[in-house]
Amino acid sequence: MFIDSFIDTFKQVGLKSVNISLDSLDKAMFHTLTGRDEFTKVHRNIMLLIDSGYHVKVNMVVMNGYNDHEITSFIEWTEKTPVHIRFIEFMPFPGNHWRPEKLMTFKDILNSISETFPNIEKLEDGKHDTAKKFKVHGHLGTFAVISTMSEPFCGGCNRLRLTSDGKMRNCLFANNEMDLLTPLRKGEDITKLIHQNLAGKYYMLGGNVETEWELHQTESHERTMMGIGG
Ligand code: SF4
Repeated sequence: MFIDSFIDTFKQVGLKSVNISLDSLDKAMFHTLTGRDEFTKVHRNIMLLIDSGYHVKVNMVVMNGYNDHEITSFIEWTEKTPVHIRFIEFMPFPGNHWRPEKLMTFKDILNSISETFPNIEKLEDGKHDTAKKFKVHGHLGTFAVISTMSEPFCGGCNRLRLTSDGKMRNCLFANNEMDLLTPLRKGEDITKLIHQNLAGKYYMLGGNVETEWELHQTESHERTMMGIGG
């Protein structure tokens, strides 16, 4: 929301790529989903970044019955704008009212896009990519699907997260986190702790499940997605 105030700082520190959450291109739906009437400002800031030459990924969490009808509008946006849409399967997090019927899977999303845009090209994915990348032939932008729930890709995941209060998390679904800030402020070497945290990374989905579908009713994680930092 405050990108316009910091864009000069972004340039100074050499930032090249920015991820932004935008779950709807409809002003009223944006307000409903976020509780803020700030669609115009967020959209304007995305365009400011793109026009300033940044690689911009827009994260859209697809929720069946809420914003799934907007998938086509997001793809239309990629036609003349070099924007990179990430359709993310809805995942269980505290307070997000997760229910299985709200999930639109990778296959559902791709089928929905192909109905309007049959000429989809598969793009090459990197070894550690969490998104399956595509583009519609001739469009300037691209799209991808992050299939955490229906086709988990944890085997290639090299993600580690550091929260704004100095806690390290080795998975989005991790049930515990490691405090790095306190020892760092005491002048201790935190390298060992980082390795320890990394070594505790579970094979899949933070060790929460035997199969991915057992996540259906889970809302037991301590942090919201916002608290983790995406
Ligand atoms: S290991 Fe965790 S963070 Fe990585 S892809 Fe799997 S669920 Fe996501």
